[in-house]
Amino acid sequence: MELVGSLQRLIVPGRCAACGVRAETLCRRCRVALAHGRYAAGPRLVRPSPCPAQMPPCWAAAGLDGVLRVLLTAYKDADRRDLAGVLAPLLAAAIRAAMEAPRLPEARPDGPRPSVLLVPVPASGRSRRRRGDRPLESLVVGAAELLPGPVRVIRVLRPVRATRDQSGLDAEARRVNLAGAMALAPGAVDLLGGHRVVLVDDIVTTGATLVEGARALGAAGVSVRAAVIAATPRRAFATRPAAVVTGESTVVAPPKPD
Ligand SMILES: [Zn+2]
Repeated sequence: MELVGSLQRLIVPGRCAACGVRAETLCRRCRVALAHGRYAAGPRLVRPSPCPAQMPPCWAAAGLDGVLRVLLTAYKDADRRDLAGVLAPLLAAAIRAAMEAPRLPEARPDGPRPSVLLVPVPASGRSRRRRGDRPLESLVVGAAELLPGPVRVIRVLRPVRATRDQSGLDAEARRVNLAGAMALAPGAVDLLGGHRVVLVDDIVTTGATLVEGARALGAAGVSVRAAVIAATPRRAFATRPAAVVTGESTVVAPPKPD
């Protein structure tokens, strides 16, 4: 039972969450591998392929492979919450790239500097019941503490109907599965108005979740950028680090294999 063995390794404290050797959280070798993974030079603007209409500009800290893939699974599904200290800085880097890219709309050029509001993608009712907590939100709060202020985390998106598990669905099925699945919480329009909004998730694959989150946030009249820890390499292509962003449409350098 190789799977059982690997899951046991993941949840045993005092073991590297990626390879299982004796170490606190993550061993030295896996830390090095993580630091030298995809996008080692820094967060990238990424686009799913095919890119859905209304896809918000999205920055990813890394490509989803190798050590990082194992760590995200261990964090979310094997209770390795000690990995927050490894994952939150990655998420913070992606959020910072989203915040600092040129031409992020300001409320008023001469007004007070608007806050950045981080909006986590809501967990489905199914995953909340399974896990009993909100692992993504913990990471977003951890990332916010690492960012230059004013940055606030606000939970204004909520699921309004049941959705299917996304794994195994293709891009079109994911789009249909999520269309209209999120809505703003009461009072959200007042909270969001005049601020810069970054929609945050852990992984981008087809972009369906971010498109739905951005659509729901659009009801408040705000434009949205997105940040994730990791992009699925075969589904989302990274641009060069210096990709130009104009308004909310992206001018993307040709994807290069990386
Ligand atoms: Zn290791």
